[in-house]
Amino acid sequence: MLRDLYQEEHRIFRESMRRFVADQVTPNVDEWEEAGAVPRELWLAMGEQGFLCPWVPEEYGGLGLGFEYSLIVNEELIRGDGFGVGVPLHSDVASPYLADYGTAQAKEKFLPGCVSGEVITAVGFTEPGAGSDLAAIRTTAVKDGDEYVLNGQKTFITNGYFADLVVVAVKTDPSAGYKGISLILVDKDAPGFSKGAPLHKMGMRMQDTAELYFEDCRVPAWHLLGEQGQGFKYMMAKLQQERIEVCIKCQVMAEQCLKEGLEFAKTREAFGKPIGFQQANAFKLAEMATDVQLGRTFLDDLIFSHIKGEDVVQKVSMAKYWLGEMVNRVAYQAVQLHGGYGFMEEYRICRLYRDVRALSIFAGTSEIMKLIISRNMGLRS
Ligand SMILES: Cc1cc2nc3c(=O)[nH]c(=O)nc-3n(C[C@H](O)[C@H](O)[C@H](O)COP(=O)(O)OP(=O)(O)OC[C@H]3O[C@@H](n4cnc5c(N)ncnc54)[C@H](O)[C@@H]3O)c2cc1C
Repeated sequence: MLRDLYQEEHRIFRESMRRFVADQVTPNVDEWEEAGAVPRELWLAMGEQGFLCPWVPEEYGGLGLGFEYSLIVNEELIRGDGFGVGVPLHSDVASPYLADYGTAQAKEKFLPGCVSGEVITAVGFTEPGAGSDLAAIRTTAVKDGDEYVLNGQKTFITNGYFADLVVVAVKTDPSAGYKGISLILVDKDAPGFSKGAPLHKMGMRMQDTAELYFEDCRVPAWHLLGEQGQGFKYMMAKLQQERIEVCIKCQVMAEQCLKEGLEFAKTREAFGKPIGFQQANAFKLAEMATDVQLGRTFLDDLIFSHIKGEDVVQKVSMAKYWLGEMVNRVAYQAVQLHGGYGFMEEYRICRLYRDVRALSIFAGTSEIMKLIISRNMGLRS
């Protein structure tokens, strides 16, 4: 079980992360939400404390720790209201592509910066015309001597505006469908690479989300990740950890929504008693607590399987679908319990409600998760 993995060193790491969040994240979230961005100083401070990419091997400046340390960083950020800090995507989604598929030259150049916070990473897969159907991307890369030349556009890219390095999905053979997809690193100074202004979003406003443009953008050939034409395979492999990272967000945010709903229901009075003492609301909270408990049990089992290296595609897809819907259910009911106060910005539940909405959409929608689950059951819809 997951909790059996935790030792004294995990407790110490969690404690220092919790203190860091209390000092340097929570007091600033309103300002960052307003600004639509998290300052680079935060990334550098997290890097200094070992909170970025803690799994990176020591030879590249990391701590060489397990995935459970990333999980601790992710959980504590959320508990301290840093839902929109793009660190989990950097540490556990984008940087692992570099570490696992990057050339020696690329790893040497960029990985130490991923650990220190000097290199912020992003993943550029989605395009205006292709989100769920990644095989339909149209951005191309053509080999020209010892360079690749990229043309195309990406959208909705988390960390996109401040990213120093982007893992970009391209077609190196447009006639070969998903077999023609490759992954290439594009650094912020590459000629022909530009970024749009941060996009205005319903929630997670402190997280910068941007469009990226490639116009005859040139990068060295050693920026290719792995083998040409194998990009789709790499994406499918790495998407599992990305989805687990989102599942953790779903679960911890659901726990926070329940906490807010319960506290409010115990203190707010109507008709002469706390609203939580009305049986309809007490039952609602009982249902929310059951949802949250089921989620925690399933998630811990999933993470444990992932750390053991099992094939988790089916479990991940189920968890991403179920937890993404569950957190939205719990957030909706928590706002309902707050009455009009739930609609007011000064109440924490208001922002939680906005922020959870994207969780059943990004990293694979609930519908796409059900497609994967049913196909694994032999159903070809
Ligand atoms: C806040 C945010 C951050 C993001 N960050 C990133 C990022 O860092 N990098 C990145 O590459 N992308 C990112 N995305 C993009 C995200 O992954 C896509 O939005 C998502 O995969 C859905 O793609 P789409 O928006 O094109 O919707 P579409 O694929 O057009 O889907 C629209 C609707 O149709 C449904 N649908 C599509 N196909 C089927 C089907 N076969 N069966 C049933 N229903 C179907 C979908 O479920 C959805 O409900 C981000 C998105 C958001 C909102």
